[in-house]
Amino acid sequence: MNVKMGVTNRERIPLLSKSRFMAGLQCHKRLYLGCFHFDLKDPFDEGRQAILDSGTRIGELARDIYPGGVLIGEDHLQHGKAVSSTEKALADSSVQAICEAAFVYDGIRIRADILVQSGIDTFDLIEVKSGTSVKKEHIPDVAVQLYVLQGCGISVGQVCLCHLNKEYVYQGGDYDLGQLFLIEDVTEKAKERQPDIPLSLEEMRLPLWGLEPPDIKPGRQCLKPYQCEFYGHCHTGETEHPVIQLPNASKEILLELEEAGIEDIRDIPEGYPGLNPTQQQVRDCVVGNHVHIAPDLPEALVRLEYPIHFLDFETFGSALPLYIGTRPYQSLPFQWSNHTITGNGELRHAEFLHDGFDDPREPFAKSLLEALGSSGPIVVYTGYEAQCIRELARVLPDLSDALMVLAETRLVDLHKLIRDNCYHPEFHGSFSIKSVLPALVPELDYSDLEVSDGMQAQAAFAEIINLWTPADRRSQLRESLLAYCKRDTEAEVRLFEALKYQKV
Ligand code: SF4
Repeated sequence: MNVKMGVTNRERIPLLSKSRFMAGLQCHKRLYLGCFHFDLKDPFDEGRQAILDSGTRIGELARDIYPGGVLIGEDHLQHGKAVSSTEKALADSSVQAICEAAFVYDGIRIRADILVQSGIDTFDLIEVKSGTSVKKEHIPDVAVQLYVLQGCGISVGQVCLCHLNKEYVYQGGDYDLGQLFLIEDVTEKAKERQPDIPLSLEEMRLPLWGLEPPDIKPGRQCLKPYQCEFYGHCHTGETEHPVIQLPNASKEILLELEEAGIEDIRDIPEGYPGLNPTQQQVRDCVVGNHVHIAPDLPEALVRLEYPIHFLDFETFGSALPLYIGTRPYQSLPFQWSNHTITGNGELRHAEFLHDGFDDPREPFAKSLLEALGSSGPIVVYTGYEAQCIRELARVLPDLSDALMVLAETRLVDLHKLIRDNCYHPEFHGSFSIKSVLPALVPELDYSDLEVSDGMQAQAAFAEIINLWTPADRRSQLRESLLAYCKRDTEAEVRLFEALKYQKV
């Protein structure tokens, strides 16, 4: 760390918000960059915006659990005014609930999602989360709110997390809020954290006085509990094959390598103890700059009989269920692409993208069964398609037998075959198709596409089924989605050919 105790380079440091406190718990550099260099954040894509929009909608719905609550309307730029409005609401004993209540204490400002009067001058704190369970990172989130509330003299009864109920099944019409949400009491866990908060605050504020960010190297903290928004900035120009790219590297082996001063896989000595056989293989490929393909891989591909299908799905998981009989975040397939290499070597393509505002599953499944016919292996990338087909079989009894035949007898997982039998130094520790394709088939990529990953595909479909989306925009999005899913199966075909004929 560049900052020495007692040396202050700035005249003042900013107030911390709850999000900044959480950023500081993850990494002091993340907090520093968030305070002083937010221009270095990774680009904000449509997928992440869609998640935020969905979180806002869920927060608004949860307020309706407490009808008659007062909403503190001032935004975060008017925190002082919001605090005054909150004080007025607190002074009015007829107010049963306050939403977005604002407080400041010990240099931290918070907006509490919902405060519910639970006794004379006592309030329960309800923090709304858009997930379907309580996660361990939620506890410091509510603990810091409790710290501020108690510091402001508020008597807090229970501290609760309100999240979506993944077992809730939508019956149509308005949501049944009593079923849609679950409220879990985490008071004791939030209280247990109280003694740690002043020290955490002191530690995270210290680097903020410096004029340079703290010298913290990228590591596992960059993705846990959240992907850091400065990921691209911190990982630019770092060593080409950082040890974090060893597949399934444990915390212990990463610490051991760090203590030995080894940052790059190429610096790991031959036969280094502690690497498992896969990691040893990766180390050897990177050091020797060669591609490893075990004979099992081309042999498995040669055994496949024509016609061979190459299949990919796109799915959509809305936090709030849209169709009768569906649950929060249930993945609903809405699009497929299928390339087929026939017995005489011809390459054909077929596709489906749901067109309409109704449940896509039945037309998806019927068109899929028709396109895949009754013969030929079906190459997929990961087990996701099998999972989706089994779920379709569960909810579509008339198609169940035919779908189960697909899932149980015809699917071939190319991802597993590659993961178990192949490594290229340019995989950089990842076996996702977006990492494997540029290494093995460098002339094919996704850079020319408007939709180029699954998150963007979900966001595009959400826009298509929004009644307010203009027809021309809807048509443009359809074209982009069709191009994206088609590229995925084209990628599978090219990977299959490259590996079968060992053209890498
Ligand atoms: S990318 Fe990693 S090292 Fe950089 S600020 Fe974020 S968490 Fe810290």
